[in-house]
Amino acid sequence: MATSNTPDIIYTKVDEAPELASASLLPIVQRFAAAADVTVGTKDISLAGRILASFPEHLTDEQRIADDLAELGALVKTPTANVIKLPNISASVPQLLAAIRELQGQGYAIPDYVEDPQTDAEKSARARYDALKGSAVNPVLREGNSDRRAATAVKKYAQANPHRMGDWSADSKTRVAAMADGDFFSNEKSATLPQAAKAKIVLETANGETVLKDGLSYPAGTVVDATYMSAAALDAFLAEEIERTKAEGVLFSIHLKATMMKVSDPIIFGHAVKVFLAPVFEEFGDEMTALGVNPNSGLGDLLARFKDNTKIMAAIDACMAARPPLYMVDSGKGITNLHVPSDVIIDASMPALIRAGGKGWGPDNQEHDAVCVIPDNAYAPVYDEAVKFFKENGKLNPATAGTVQNIGLMAQKAEEYGSHPTTFEIPQAGTVKMILEDGTVLHQQSVEAGDIWRSASARKAPIEDWVNLAIERQKATGYRSIFWLDAARAHDAELIAMVKPILEARGVSDKFEIMAPREATRASLETITKGENSIAITGNVLRDYLTDLFPILELATSAKMLSIVKLMQDGGMFETGAGGSAPKHVQQLQSENHLRWDSLGEFCALGESLKFLAETNGNDRARVLGEAVEAATQGILDHDRSPSRKVGEPDNRDSHYWFARYWAEALVAQGEDAALAAEFAPVAEALAENEAKIVGELAAAQGKPADIGGYYHADPAKLAAVMRPSATLNAIIG
Ligand code: NAP
Ligand code: MG
Repeated sequence: MATSNTPDIIYTKVDEAPELASASLLPIVQRFAAAADVTVGTKDISLAGRILASFPEHLTDEQRIADDLAELGALVKTPTANVIKLPNISASVPQLLAAIRELQGQGYAIPDYVEDPQTDAEKSARARYDALKGSAVNPVLREGNSDRRAATAVKKYAQANPHRMGDWSADSKTRVAAMADGDFFSNEKSATLPQAAKAKIVLETANGETVLKDGLSYPAGTVVDATYMSAAALDAFLAEEIERTKAEGVLFSIHLKATMMKVSDPIIFGHAVKVFLAPVFEEFGDEMTALGVNPNSGLGDLLARFKDNTKIMAAIDACMAARPPLYMVDSGKGITNLHVPSDVIIDASMPALIRAGGKGWGPDNQEHDAVCVIPDNAYAPVYDEAVKFFKENGKLNPATAGTVQNIGLMAQKAEEYGSHPTTFEIPQAGTVKMILEDGTVLHQQSVEAGDIWRSASARKAPIEDWVNLAIERQKATGYRSIFWLDAARAHDAELIAMVKPILEARGVSDKFEIMAPREATRASLETITKGENSIAITGNVLRDYLTDLFPILELATSAKMLSIVKLMQDGGMFETGAGGSAPKHVQQLQSENHLRWDSLGEFCALGESLKFLAETNGNDRARVLGEAVEAATQGILDHDRSPSRKVGEPDNRDSHYWFARYWAEALVAQGEDAALAAEFAPVAEALAENEAKIVGELAAAQGKPADIGGYYHADPAKLAAVMRPSATLNAIIG
């Protein structure tokens, strides 16, 4: 329950670029909110914070911190929840290791992450670390479905100031490659449980039965899936695509989501590393295994381990020379697609490649066409169809294009594919069975050693809430509304059977279309090409993928999206954009003290959060404040006050100065609350009068390396000094 000391609005403490931005923006927000008696407090969901909260017994009293994520997880189930959620790190193993090392270096005696735990203490520490990996925050907080769209001001700005798009040519050799068979899509089975059930997952082999997972519990009406990807089919497919790519003379690339799909996708990535370097693994496999090589950690880890082993390095060089050139993450530094599992993340990488006209960067630091390997057919058709569409029709014109909004199913861990504790790499050939407590075998599948088996589910109440949200948004907009569901896919067929009766009962069947992702992609692209708008009503994965794909094409970024989670227990969560925590921005700040992070997502979320607060607690001043935030956001766009990418030009901190100024000016200009206007009149005046001085102080801070005392766990005082370098602005904010 929200207690009396729970702040009215929770502003999450996160990682990387958004956390840097918060050091500058949050003091401004707190100062303005206080004028309406609105308290804005933080809860720490950063990777470092979650690590520290997991090991209290290793820390001194002063070092211990509360488990804020657990508290927030409870808060989002209360009707008054009002959370501004910034992007946080979904940690890959290399990131987790780096964060642990940094904290240990700062004097926190947390245990090591042990690759192969033996003692009970090691096993317990490893289990706690495993729980922090990947997408560990969002599934806990997302107790509602997702409504993501470009705010009108943002869309209009993009149309008036169209970004550069790469040209698509009809003879582009870029293509998407997916498995013909043996993938999650083709092996999927799905059933809707008529009544509540407990279940277990077992593996039956020649040697007996192993329980993979016990104690699963589903309410009545839950859609439960089981599927697997064949390791042999995956390897054969990868080997064939590597050869084909070589013959086609383009870049080889693989696009996965090793962060969100934290169990399945690092394994698939590891297969790609192994197949790409097959001759090396054939010759030195035993030696490499003995030295602890794990292909799932990527080529970067492998090269680091063998840099002094001339024999293996020579074999790797010879193998790479015989392979197609790899799509590069950073050609300047020689970082390939296969270096780190979390470097190439499909929802960001594929839109970037499509926006660039089907081009990726090669090892020669030039742009080339690329084969984009996306093994599973559940979502590959979206990118395949988009590539085909642009080859036929040329690039999208952002000046005239309409918009695709999204209503996404995600509440209560709906469709958490591959990130679930119900995904397994099968140790031994046999049969996997999902067995209900009454003995009914819900699903069963024959598997081979190495196959990746997974189950995911979606509960009835979230599905109904999602359909109702779609009906609400269709009614509010009148846009073409499409459920992206494939009648030929087992899981989607179950959803269609639930969606159709709801639409019929509400008398709105004629307002909605249901299409498989491939057809829906084409229909949506045709719609926005005509300048019309559409709502994509999708499951959880396409919610994530499409709210990057369409915004990146329409607006050049998904960071400026309005992203509302209408919590099922009536609270509100406001996500700041659809992007991540932009690690590259931190590097730039550290080397030249320029932060290109755009806080527009935070501005949009803040406006919504304040207006929502007014609705829930009747504080009308919060509404006035929220409407003034919208005016300030409009001011930022109208006057081009968003951060520049280049050092020496206005950055994130400058945009916050302008945001504060426009916000104060809007509060003075509004005619509804005279006391608020009077309170902000001197603030607005001081901000305007001191413009040259403040802008000068902010500019003077740039150009030299910045020290914030840590990457994952910065020193708050150093961070504040770097992010609030204008004494004049700080004095006005107070
Ligand atoms: P990303 O953080 O979205 O960054 C990709 C690029 O998008 C950035 O390098 C930047 O481009 C641009 N960008 C994103 N947000 C921006 C903003 N507000 N202003 C300006 N530019 C922005 O995606 P990623 O690199 O794939 O993921 C990074 C981390 O974020 C990962 O740890 C991932 O797990 C996490 N993540 C979290 C969430 C979430 O919590 N909701 C969602 C997605 C990803 P330029 O470098 O060209 O400026
Ligand atoms: Mg995404």
